[in-house]
Amino acid sequence: MGKKNHEWRDSPTDTLRVNAGFSIADFDCASTPGFTGHKRHSSQLMEERGRILSDLQERLFAEGRSEGNRSVLLVIQGMDTAGKGGIVRHVVGLVDPQGVQHHSFGVPTEEEKSHDYLWRIDNALPTPGHIGVFDRSHYEDVLVVRVHNYVEPAVWGKRYDEINAWEAKVVASGTRIVKCALMVSKEEQLNRLEERLDRPDKYWKYNPHDLDERSYWDAYMEAYQAAFDRCSTDIAPWHAIPADRKWFARLAVTELLTQALEDMNVTWPAAEFDIQTEKQRVAALRAAK
Ligand code: AMP
Ligand code: MG
Repeated sequence: MGKKNHEWRDSPTDTLRVNAGFSIADFDCASTPGFTGHKRHSSQLMEERGRILSDLQERLFAEGRSEGNRSVLLVIQGMDTAGKGGIVRHVVGLVDPQGVQHHSFGVPTEEEKSHDYLWRIDNALPTPGHIGVFDRSHYEDVLVVRVHNYVEPAVWGKRYDEINAWEAKVVASGTRIVKCALMVSKEEQLNRLEERLDRPDKYWKYNPHDLDERSYWDAYMEAYQAAFDRCSTDIAPWHAIPADRKWFARLAVTELLTQALEDMNVTWPAAEFDIQTEKQRVAALRAAK
């Protein structure tokens, strides 16, 4: 008998997808749905899938260099400490940085504020052949903005439909959108905040303001629920990723990204020159040496 192969029993594209009736209140942030292994099995699978992801990403990059117009957009949302940075480092880090266009979205600058909320997002869309990564996104405009009523409810209330229309346009232009919400529990967030204060190598991640935001936890969960209810569409579904176990969240996002690229059937572009002619030219150089 060979070594037991720990893998996905059910694909996270199905098990983690937010469908009608999904309820955050019933969601287990520490669960590992669909995965047959444990933490110790995840690194091997990360490596295996990472190699495939990296190969697919290179094909996409090559396609973008020829006539292709396709790209991928990974949208990462989550409460403070949910592990957004870890996804960038450990999942996005599996592929060639040349093919990645990363943007994090913080409090809008004066210039950004002078435009529509989708202006800065539009400007950050990946160009052909790239994997765009949004660490926070246009969803902040229906999350933090909704929780604090930074704009009138009538204004943020219209944004769900606007976001769906905008995402439909983006998908139609050749960008595959993979939306991942890292769901950390309130208890685990406290553990992680404590850890940040205990470790000098984590002080830089600690922001006193995160504690203020934590006191709005229930309002944030309502806002996430609304974003899921209204913006988990067929063309750009949300995935709710249990994030109390970092290894699982990273493995799951790796799989979602890999499967998205597999689905796109990216093939190596054909040569845009005559191969025989070029071979003869090189052979002539070789012979002349
Ligand atoms: P961090 O990701 O930890 O660097 O924090 C970025 C901060 O910017 C978070 O507190 C977000 O809630 C905040 N932020 C992001 N987008 C917006 C927005 N559109 N309006 C207000 N605050 C935002
Ligand atoms: Mg932060």
